[in-house]
Amino acid sequence: MKKTGFDRIYRILFAKYGECICPLVHDTPFHLVCAVMLSAQCRDDRVNEVTPELFRRWPDPDAMAKADPDEVAGVIQTLGLYRNKSRNLVACAAALVQEYGGVVPQSMEELSRLPGIGRKSANVVLGNAFGLPGFPVDTHVNRVLNRLGLVKTIVPEKIEKAVNTAVAPELWSNFSHLLILHGRDICHARNPECANCPLAEYCPSWKK
Ligand code: SF4
Repeated sequence: MKKTGFDRIYRILFAKYGECICPLVHDTPFHLVCAVMLSAQCRDDRVNEVTPELFRRWPDPDAMAKADPDEVAGVIQTLGLYRNKSRNLVACAAALVQEYGGVVPQSMEELSRLPGIGRKSANVVLGNAFGLPGFPVDTHVNRVLNRLGLVKTIVPEKIEKAVNTAVAPELWSNFSHLLILHGRDICHARNPECANCPLAEYCPSWKK
């Protein structure tokens, strides 16, 4: 990696959290596509509570494409936006069957065209299902990078581009995980715990 502020932050966070695994439980790329779709505006642990039954009943794109969206909604009804999500799950599976022979594609362009899958979700799938470069920008990533002064924009695509330019591709996915963990653990949206932050001496937002 080039010697940049990004490099320093990555190394410090890696020393604290190490190599991260995707918190959304999944066995196949299709399961991760479903789980990441369900995680919109919803905690990962809540998603993990419903996916075992969801994947037991509709384990692959063929099965999900034939599902009744109302039945799917019944399984995921503890999650926010569950009616929209159930429709998207079935529509996405149908698109996978019709356009890709039931196989999850491995490019940003193709993934982000699937119903219910935006750029952030596509990056999660690329990085965690396929081990390909992908830097998802969520609210934690956005907040932490701005507080650190490494980006000066809240536009996710611009943040992604800044990281893509400064950080080696093989680190993108883990870097996103590290920033999310740091945002959840220490650099909270309200009342960040700057006194406990290993990045404090490099952070222009450090509140002493
Ligand atoms: S010093 Fe404070 S604002 Fe800066 S990254 Fe750490 S917790 Fe966040």
